[in-house]
Amino acid sequence: MARVVQKFGGSSVADAESIQRVAERIAATKRDGNDVVIVISAMGDTTDELLDLALRVSPHPQPRELDMLLTTGERQSAALLAMALIDLGVPALSYTGSQAGVITTGTHGNARIIDITPGRILTSLDEGDVVIVAGFQGVSQDTKDVTTLGRGASDTTAVALAAAVGAQYCEIYTDVDGVFTADPRVVTHAKRVPVLSYEEMLELAACGAKVLHLRCVEYARSERVPIHVRSSFSENPGTWVVDQTIIDQHRRQGDLPVEQAIISGIAHDASEGKVTVIGVPDTIGTAARIFRAIADEEINIDMIVQNVSRAGLGRTDISFTLPHSEAAKARDALKRIQAEIGFEGLAYNQDIAKVSVVGVGMRTHPGVTASFFDALAKADINLDMISTSEIRISVVVAAKDAARAIQAAHSAFQLDAQTEAVVYAGTGR
Ligand code: ASP
Ligand code: MG
Repeated sequence: MARVVQKFGGSSVADAESIQRVAERIAATKRDGNDVVIVISAMGDTTDELLDLALRVSPHPQPRELDMLLTTGERQSAALLAMALIDLGVPALSYTGSQAGVITTGTHGNARIIDITPGRILTSLDEGDVVIVAGFQGVSQDTKDVTTLGRGASDTTAVALAAAVGAQYCEIYTDVDGVFTADPRVVTHAKRVPVLSYEEMLELAACGAKVLHLRCVEYARSERVPIHVRSSFSENPGTWVVDQTIIDQHRRQGDLPVEQAIISGIAHDASEGKVTVIGVPDTIGTAARIFRAIADEEINIDMIVQNVSRAGLGRTDISFTLPHSEAAKARDALKRIQAEIGFEGLAYNQDIAKVSVVGVGMRTHPGVTASFFDALAKADINLDMISTSEIRISVVVAAKDAARAIQAAHSAFQLDAQTEAVVYAGTGR
């Protein structure tokens, strides 16, 4: 008998039949004698639909009210799932995030979990109930208002609850059989990765792999919660995301191949744009002032490139990438300091994509960068920007080249599977 937290994503509970199917699966886990906490996402594309609706009513919805609206999506699926379980003879209780004790900061739309007070959940578990918690939401410690944790954050709710109730592991049920070497919607012959370290998964999630929410992986790493990403549409084993020491241990025991793959996966992100500050005086402190202005707007930037000074002119161009949604704010902030700094102009390019190869194996294998760039060159793809970490190489390419770049890298690192990857459901929206 174990205590487990299972999270079901929106595509797993898209309609009434799917909710009943998921309920059967949960009932089986419960009948096996486990304590079960379920975290549930809104049905199908409900969150997007609620957002569209809000924008039709109000072009700039008030953030508190938007959270009131969006949290109803998860509340619907939680209540419906509880009904389905009760009909199967399994006692179940649904809770909102607030009722479940998910305490957050007050930042509407992007609140962070500060604490979980799982008193009610633990009591319900003791009484034999399956506990169903509405994902992606909590209650602000200060204002007592309902908050949301950011798009895709039901994963984070699940891992945080797993840590709070002392679960052995957290299962994330989705519409694919785990984490793949690339998005199976882009690379048809992507392969399931059986195990990943928290570090690799963090890099993949940060670079646009949507299968797990970034903060969920951060949480799992700091609380040492093993994650099992798997499909709710099959019984297949998925991907375990665990500490590297556990992976090394399994290698020594011989239940994982001794040889570490060089590249574990390829992620891509088309949600960023590139700002270029043109003709920046090449003097000490100018770059600092530019990025201070961006930081003051609380905008996170990603890659930065500064060109060599144009000969004799003492001016340079500085480019950086940022979430497309922040571009207007960043340009306004820069325009305000243009006269003071004396740069010549601003340009913005939205038609870019970032492609990243990730793997702990590159620490010990020289030449990974060369192979990656070779593959892109052979595919006739120009690199616009480059950045690296110890276990990642990222490039920015034109958006139209992204799919070809991913495919080229996937083949070059011999990640292609014999068979096509299965995508069971979901619009990938
Ligand atoms: N329903 C929310 C979203 O679509 C949260 C989640 O699914 O994790 O972003
Ligand atoms: Mg998700």
